[in-house]
Amino acid sequence: MANTVVKIDNLVKRYKELIALDHLSLEIKEGEVFGLLGPNGSGKTTTINCLLSLLAYDKGTIEIFGKPMTPTSYDIKREIGIIMQNVAVFNELTVMDNIDYFCGLYITDKAKRKQYVEEAIRFVGLEDFTKFYPRKLSGGLLRRLNIACGIAHKPKLIILDEPTVAVDPQSRNKILEGIEQLNRDGATIIYTSHYMEEVEQICTRIAIMDKGHKVAEGSKEELKKMIKNTETISIEVAEPSAEVNAEVAALPHVYKNEYTDGKLHVYCSGGKHNLIRVLDVLQKHDMHIGRVYSELPTLNDVFLEITGKALRDKED
Ligand code: ADP
Ligand code: MG
Repeated sequence: MANTVVKIDNLVKRYKELIALDHLSLEIKEGEVFGLLGPNGSGKTTTINCLLSLLAYDKGTIEIFGKPMTPTSYDIKREIGIIMQNVAVFNELTVMDNIDYFCGLYITDKAKRKQYVEEAIRFVGLEDFTKFYPRKLSGGLLRRLNIACGIAHKPKLIILDEPTVAVDPQSRNKILEGIEQLNRDGATIIYTSHYMEEVEQICTRIAIMDKGHKVAEGSKEELKKMIKNTETISIEVAEPSAEVNAEVAALPHVYKNEYTDGKLHVYCSGGKHNLIRVLDVLQKHDMHIGRVYSELPTLNDVFLEITGKALRDKED
């Protein structure tokens, strides 16, 4: 069995009357890429701030590497790399000097530090920007600098709080690949996001949060097995008549159908030939069919079934 790296037990955090974390428990093992997935305001950042003892909490216990975490647990903090949601770098220092500063908080040996800083720069792909000041960097490059500052000292546990928000696709891929590489190199990762695609892509285990509660936990496969949806069929077609809708609804395995955005959406639970059956109904009624999609459940479907609402707005 892998060692437990983080153990959070019954954590309660209140901001005045608001209960931001309501008896949250999490256990994270060595080698995991652990995803905290939840919409804005669900308590992800609060969890991270409590975990790091940056924020006092009302109830519960937190252990890291098997020891209680306190504001003065410097031996534990040295082994943690933190990439905060809000980029935190010095504007008056260059890219290189920023990374050197943060690395220097933990690595005092100069030769070793130089090597670590150079490795971090290569790792995030900022070789061409070492003399730049942060304000000259694009959002994506700034994020990469933020990451380099957090990982240069080669921590065993790396915590990234929404590191890809407002980042261009190229930097985003670079960041996601980088996280997987850090994990292959031996680091345990905690990754928070409200982007389910990213969490699906890189996380070995996922806790879904909503309003300070953990509403589900498991691998993405386990999470998807918790819900009844197994397939969502979408067909571009003119609006079906009530008769057609009723026939589709009566098909085996169909538990819901609706017409939105010029598409008929059919939600299925189990069964093998759902798409063919739906198309048969439409053809029988001589309906002209456009593009056809059949999609497996996503973590958004999991969130939707458990909480009754979408993980995030479409335009987000
Ligand atoms: P997330 O990171 O998932 O978006 P947060 O942990 O930032 O969520 O916030 C959880 C809840 O706590 C939200 O309702 C938020 O408005 C509230 N909250 C966060 N920080 C504070 C604060 N400093 N004072 C009061 N309320 C806060
Ligand atoms: Mg947050």
